[in-house]
Amino acid sequence: MKFAVMSLGCRLNTAEIQSLSTALQEAGHELTDRDNACLHIINSCGVTAASERKTRRLLYRSIECARPGIKIILTGCCAETQRREGSIYYISNDYKYLIPDIVSDWSLFERIETRGASRFAFKPAKRSSKTRINIKIQDGCDNFCTYCVIPIVRGAPVSRPLSAVLDELRELADAGYKEFLLTGVCIGSYSYDGQGLPYLLEKLLLVPGNFRVHLSSISPLAVDEHIADILQHPKMVKHLSLSLQSGSGRILEKMNRGYSPSAYMEKLELVRKKNQTFNFTTDIIVGFPGETDDDFAATLELVRSAGFSHVHIFRYSPRPGTKAAQMTDRVPEHVKSARGKILSRQCAAQKKKYYESFQERESVFLSEGAKNGVSRGFNEYYVPVESNTVLPANEFFRIRTRFSEKRSILTGDVL
Ligand code: SF4
Repeated sequence: MKFAVMSLGCRLNTAEIQSLSTALQEAGHELTDRDNACLHIINSCGVTAASERKTRRLLYRSIECARPGIKIILTGCCAETQRREGSIYYISNDYKYLIPDIVSDWSLFERIETRGASRFAFKPAKRSSKTRINIKIQDGCDNFCTYCVIPIVRGAPVSRPLSAVLDELRELADAGYKEFLLTGVCIGSYSYDGQGLPYLLEKLLLVPGNFRVHLSSISPLAVDEHIADILQHPKMVKHLSLSLQSGSGRILEKMNRGYSPSAYMEKLELVRKKNQTFNFTTDIIVGFPGETDDDFAATLELVRSAGFSHVHIFRYSPRPGTKAAQMTDRVPEHVKSARGKILSRQCAAQKKKYYESFQERESVFLSEGAKNGVSRGFNEYYVPVESNTVLPANEFFRIRTRFSEKRSILTGDVL
């Protein structure tokens, strides 16, 4: 069967759809584009109003295709139950792993729940580029930040057996992959057989091979001296997306984030005091209910003192079923938009300052592929670099970097 995938949202959704796509192709199905496919798989996201609107648009476009015999599977966080509406099959995250089996035998859909829910029964994905690949280690969350639907749509936290994660990393390392991005909803809360994320990381770093491990997004609550030490390991990518959301103590409390601005900075400094160049990025919500100019000023100040190289900026949107959706002191859309622009300008200047700090410095570059006479990739600080010569893909090189103001990237010469 010819199938097309449209995926929205987080790295976890991406990791899952990459695995499903691999399994379908290994079962003999052909991956193609929407116009040539007779099966559309929409991997939805409902974390913001905007992502939910995108999901609906994708669904309508597939419905409009209306070719005879076309089937549509909507899965991901907007599919909370198993149901069928004509040619549209809704499959929740718990049963997403069964999609390859259902595509090979559609009658299985009628008894899908007899096969049991699983969050980890995904096969390792295969990718054309053997540079970076996601490894899912955890799912779900019970922190209940007041703006977030994820605990509702992805359920309670669950961690993958350590041995399964180790086996997958070994298999992928043997297959030649060079960077493993550990993904989940709240990977800081990883816990299996009483062992947490530090233990898992130490085990992964003991696996022989020339590769690096990259932690994706993590809550500051999970950062301690032990994690800060592990992040200095030569095989660890020196980058962390340390989710902040706001720089105002009052707003963080309303969000139920569980830390204060000063506690956040203490966690960041735990890592930075061991490596002054460590690369931090973050997520910020602007326009959370009740956010005043002073709250926003506190956010700008904390973002400046943290020295983030990049900030994902989200304009607050009320999500059905969340506590924040009941909050009445809404911030007008034009104020949210203005604050987003101010923060974005500040972040552009911070990114430039951070990239400039690599002027005439040595770092380790992982080449991903060449185009127009140069090779592109990232250094160990997860900063994009363009080498001034064509290099074999998927190999590590020691380089000396310079900051290209014109192009706002780093360029590098192999040493
Ligand atoms: S930690 Fe908060 S923001 Fe993150 S998934 Fe859990 S509830 Fe959502």
